[in-house]
Order: sequence, then C-alpha cells, then structure tokens
Amino acid sequence: MEKRTYATNISVSTEKQILTILWADSHKSIYPLEGLRRACPCVECAGGHANMGKKVTADIFTSPHTETWTITRLEELGNYAMQVFWGDGHDTGIYRWEYLRDICPIENGVLSL
Ligand SMILES: [Zn+2]
Repeated sequence: MEKRTYATNISVSTEKQILTILWADSHKSIYPLEGLRRACPCVECAGGHANMGKKVTADIFTSPHTETWTITRLEELGNYAMQVFWGDGHDTGIYRWEYLRDICPIENGVLSL
C-alpha cells in the first residue's frame, strides 16, 4: 500500500464547499468544490480541443466559486480512484487518488489550513 495515495477518510461539507481527504501518511487535503469540479478528469470536461494537453495544477483551486456545488455520492473504485456524483447529475468523473494527491492545494501551497 502506498500511504501517500491511500485515502483513510473522505468527507464533504456543502456548507464550506470543500471535500476533505485524510491520507494514510496523515496528510490532510482540502479541495474547494469549485476547483474539484473544474479538475474533473472525464472526457467531457477534460477532453475538449481547447483543453487538450492542458495539465491541471493546484492553481485550479484558486478559482472563485461560481455556484454552490453539491456532491450526492462518492464511490471508491477499487484502490485507485473515486467517482464523484455531483448534485447536477454529472457523474462521469473518475478521480485517481494519485491525481488528487498531486494537485492537493495544501501541499502545493495554494491554500493554507
Ligand atoms: Zn466531468
């Protein structure tokens, strides 16, 4: 088990508009929902010609909130990813743990606790 990419706890606060992941190496990641949605890796969100080849970085989490996002369900897919079911029905985003950890806004110094 790779502790850095093993999620031990995941929680969503609609009120605070954040998703929090606690990792097995004790690091705590906080993802503003606006950025998390913008970072959606699905083909529809990431595959357009305008976005081709663009790499998502932690800077995406500085995006101001354009609306109140809700997450209705999270599903862990084996030990490699989680699928996010957004309140607006978008559910094709499969976020790999490694991807999430790599763009952690705390670790990358974009946000502070
Ligand atoms: Zn998407």
